[in-house]
Amino acid sequence: MPEPTPGSADLHLHSSRSDGTEPPADVIRAVRAAGVATAALTDHDTVAGWDEAARTAREEGVGLLPGAELSTKHRGASVHVLAYLFDPADEPLAEMMRRVRDDRVGRAERLVRNLSRDFALTWDDVLAQRSGDATIGRPHIADALVAGGFLASREQAFAGPLSVHSPYYVGHFAPEPVDAVRAVVRAGGVAVIAHPAARGMLPDREIRALIDAGLSGFELGHRENTPEGAAHLRRIAEEQGLLVTGSSDYHGRGKPNRIGEHTTDPATVARIVRAAAGSEPIGL
Ligand code: AMP
Ligand code: ZN
Ligand code: FE
Ligand code: FE
Repeated sequence: MPEPTPGSADLHLHSSRSDGTEPPADVIRAVRAAGVATAALTDHDTVAGWDEAARTAREEGVGLLPGAELSTKHRGASVHVLAYLFDPADEPLAEMMRRVRDDRVGRAERLVRNLSRDFALTWDDVLAQRSGDATIGRPHIADALVAGGFLASREQAFAGPLSVHSPYYVGHFAPEPVDAVRAVVRAGGVAVIAHPAARGMLPDREIRALIDAGLSGFELGHRENTPEGAAHLRRIAEEQGLLVTGSSDYHGRGKPNRIGEHTTDPATVARIVRAAAGSEPIGL
């Protein structure tokens, strides 16, 4: 893999506080080892990894934007909103994340109950794959299916029994993207749509509503975006003066995505930092 450009940032990384496989400290060390200058920890619907990531970022001399990836839903399709530098104590946003995290637990239990019709899988098997009170998701159930010898990988699980089209599938509560963007902005944060040109791409009408709600940009550098969709959104970003970011969506051993496979340039990082008022970046 080519070396990332000096000063580049990877603004979408998961740790074991959600469905990544490594603790926040290890993720930050891996960022440094990959030659990437700045990281954003964006665990699903939680800020639980912020303190550990900040400590390690200071020790390792890695720049850090504390963040989160918010699970939202529009007309049944999942939409992920990356949020950076918001105030973690802002109650409406904290409550929104808490509600999603809590509902994910019951949802995972229902999924496991459905799977147990055909797989000898228990709730305890799934809890054994989750680190502490990490935001629970299908990846933990996938890991339990792999540990039980039923499947070979998370990928196989998502292509099969954990697919949204599978008869076992159950969803969880998720707010509308426009409500999530408003909550992030209210909390002093910067909101960027994650992998916006991947499956379930939003119609232009909804994109406009998100921009009106205070959306700052699009994550156009991401392996799941289609080139056509990304080109369309790049035109909108140029028209509207929005930010364009790139990132890996690293999940440790949970996905093939490598740190630094897509990056964000330092000028864009500086714009995010200037636009934010909710919390302080580390080392920037
Ligand atoms: P959930 O939020 O519980 O519905 O699970 C979605 C999560 O599963 C996302 O954060 C993805 O990173 C992860 N995921 C989706 N597809 C795959 C896959 N094919 N392999 C590994 N992880 C996946
Ligand atoms: Zn994930
Ligand atoms: Fe995502
Ligand atoms: Fe992600």
